[in-house]
Amino acid sequence: MFVDKVRITVIGGRGGDGAVAFHREKYVASGGPDGGDGGHGGSVILRVNDNLSTLLDFRYKRKYQAGAGANGMGRKMSGKRGEPLIVEVPRGTVVRDAESSRIIADMSTGEDFVIARGGRGGWGNAHYATPTRQTPRFAKAGLKGQERDVILELKLLADVGLVGFPNVGKSTLLSITSNARPKIANYHFTTLFPNLGVIYVDEGVSFVMADIPGIIEGAAEGAGLGHDFLRHIDRCRLLVHVVDVSGSEGRDPVEDFHAICRELKNYSLDLSDRPMIVAANKIDLLPPDSDNLERLRQAVEEAGYPMYPISAGTSQGIRNLMRVVAERLRTLPPVTIYEPDYVEVVEAPADPSAFEVEHYGSTWLVTGAWLERLVGNINFDDYESRNYFDQQLRKYGLFQRLEELGIQDGDTVDIYDIEFEYQR
Ligand code: GDP
Ligand code: MG
Repeated sequence: MFVDKVRITVIGGRGGDGAVAFHREKYVASGGPDGGDGGHGGSVILRVNDNLSTLLDFRYKRKYQAGAGANGMGRKMSGKRGEPLIVEVPRGTVVRDAESSRIIADMSTGEDFVIARGGRGGWGNAHYATPTRQTPRFAKAGLKGQERDVILELKLLADVGLVGFPNVGKSTLLSITSNARPKIANYHFTTLFPNLGVIYVDEGVSFVMADIPGIIEGAAEGAGLGHDFLRHIDRCRLLVHVVDVSGSEGRDPVEDFHAICRELKNYSLDLSDRPMIVAANKIDLLPPDSDNLERLRQAVEEAGYPMYPISAGTSQGIRNLMRVVAERLRTLPPVTIYEPDYVEVVEAPADPSAFEVEHYGSTWLVTGAWLERLVGNINFDDYESRNYFDQQLRKYGLFQRLEELGIQDGDTVDIYDIEFEYQR
């Protein structure tokens, strides 16, 4: 089965917690704090593997999580970093943000991409010693890793895309010109997934051609398989539009030509603007009295494209067509590599004094980005940590604000599920 679009969740590893520890030595009464930092969590990294040609593996596994950082230890020993998770994808995989569908990365160049960063390790108490706080009994917890839902979408990297109705001879053309061995058969939709072939024209002159399943009428509206496959020619620099000029299946080549052009346009305007060469195939089957070739030539030239009569069956005109394609490619811009259009939302350093207070009877709800982070970093089982929390709230004016708003002794303050009774 060919799979070319999947949705997965990637999660960076959690950072390890900082340690609370004190230096101990014989005959030394009380050593200083020496709790080490937690290790950073591992990141999830995307990497191109050229042996992969589909996203099939991703259908069975949807969640990719890197290793957590280890907790810090005494003697200022930091915890071990979490193991990164390498996720391999086929070349040409485009990565989108699942919600906005914006492009995050195009895995075409072969460079690794960090898709989910690991969380920072928390500081051990060794970091918190100050002249007035010589025995800090608290440390910071590690932070969660980045978590995001992304869509992986395979868009083949090919110079030339073959388009046309089923059975017109696209796979035959690719197989006789390249190393690719696509399935060829006399029934529709034999090509169930795209094939890539390298075509060597002359010394040092080669290009990559993609054979995608035949487009059928209505494909752009999702009527058939063809629609899903059109994305594989999105990047192509040149289209070779194969038409069965013999009408061997009882179809009219001129109507076929127009129908495919309409499908390309319905799929995307961008694709209908793509440079195109028309290959009038199966001339070996052309009845002697047929005017198909001339009628097609007229229609094609009216539309502004060049046409070449060929037979993929007898190889007639094939070498010449490949030369023409190579020559045309020389003048065209390179294969499209998508620029990321995803703006990483970099968290601005939160302002500690920016918080909001809501008031329901005797319960006071307080929210704010900085507070949320503070709460996530405090170990509320620990007396000193709670003390530190209290000091921070005081320092940034929370209590003063609550007083101004009329808080009473015994009221409940709720900050991100941390509840306490207010006492002046
Ligand atoms: P695709 O669906 O466009 O990939 O078409 P295929 O390459 O699978 O070809 C469909 C059928 O047409 C096969 O039976 C081929 O052998 C045949 N065919 C392709 N090109 C030619 C040609 O130029 N001449 C003749 N006589 N048959 C051809
Ligand atoms: Mg085919």
